[in-house]
Amino acid sequence: MVRHPLSSRFLQAMILGYVLLAIFTRVQEARGAYTCGCDEDCWCKRPGLSLFRWVLPRWHMNQAIAAWKASQL
Ligand SMILES: [Zn+2]
Repeated sequence: MVRHPLSSRFLQAMILGYVLLAIFTRVQEARGAYTCGCDEDCWCKRPGLSLFRWVLPRWHMNQAIAAWKASQL
């Protein structure tokens, strides 16, 4: 049996950590720590995708806000 250098367990831990960070930042936002200033047509305003609003500071409609979001983490 050949094992991958990146075991699926490691990958699962990475994904789990990423999702936990996404949930954490969304909870912080709900508590008023952050405010999303993106336009209404930004991808991060879509239900479901908003979870990753803070951990994926890319492709936002507003470049200045994308940069600011990246600096928040
Ligand atoms: Zn956005």
